[in-house]
Amino acid sequence: MAAALRGVVAIDGPSGTGKSTAARGLAERLGAGYLDTGAMYRVITLAVLRAGTDLGDPAAIAKVAGSTDLAVGADPVDPVVLLDDADVGAEIRGDEVTAAVSAVAAVPEVRELLVDAQRQIIEGVLADVGGIVVEGRDIGTVVVPDAELKVFLTAAPEIRAARRTAQHSAAGRAVNHTDVLRAVDRRDRLDSTRAADPLRAAADAVEVDTSELDLERVITALLELVAQRDLVADRAREG
Ligand code: C5P
Repeated sequence: MAAALRGVVAIDGPSGTGKSTAARGLAERLGAGYLDTGAMYRVITLAVLRAGTDLGDPAAIAKVAGSTDLAVGADPVDPVVLLDDADVGAEIRGDEVTAAVSAVAAVPEVRELLVDAQRQIIEGVLADVGGIVVEGRDIGTVVVPDAELKVFLTAAPEIRAARRTAQHSAAGRAVNHTDVLRAVDRRDRLDSTRAADPLRAAADAVEVDTSELDLERVITALLELVAQRDLVADRAREG
C-alpha cells in the first residue's frame, strides 16, 4: 500500500539549504508529483543568454521569456527540463545561468508568466495524482498561498556554501570555497531584496534549519510535518 500525499507541500528557502534533494525525496516517498520552479527560471535565463540579451534590459528579457518554449516534468525520479524540446537539465545548472538567473527572475513579466505556468502544472498534477511537492522562493507566499503545508528551509551561510562547493566538485567543476560563498550570498541578497515576489517565509510557514541535518533527517522532519497535518492518504483504502 503506497502512501499518497493529498494537496500541496510548498518548500521555500535560499540556495544551498538542500531544498531540491529534500523536495524530490519527499515527493518520491509520498508517491506525489514534484515541481522545481527554480528550473523554470533557469530555462528562461538560458534562453536569454542564448539570445545575447542585455541582462540590464527588463523589456528585452520579458520579450524572450514570452517566446520561450519550455517544459518541466513532474516526476520526482526523473524531472526532465526542456528548452525547445531539447534536454537542458545539465546546462541550466552551469555557472553562467546561475550568475544571471536572479536578474531574470526579478523581471515582473517573467514572474507573471511562470507563476501562471506553475499553477497550471500544479492543478494538472493534483487532478492526476492528488498531491505535489513544489519548491522555490515564493511558493508559500505567491504561487500557492493556500498550500496545505508550507516549509521554509534555512541553513547557516557557511554550510550552504560548503554544500554548493560539494555539488560543483561532484559535477567535476573546480571551484574555490570563498568564491562560492560570495556567489551564494550575492544570489540570496538579490532574491530577497527584489521588488517582485521576494524570497521570504510565509507567515504560516514552518521553519526547518538544515544546518545540522543530513538529507535523511530533513526528509524525516518533513514526513513528520506531513503526517501531523494529516496529509497522507492510503491509496489502497481509498480504492
Ligand atoms: O532553486 P534554484 O537555485 O534553481 O533557483 C534559481 C533562481 O531562480 C533563484 O536564485 C531565484 O532567482 C529564482 N527563483 C525564483 N522564484 C522561485 C524559484 C526560483 O525567483 N520560485
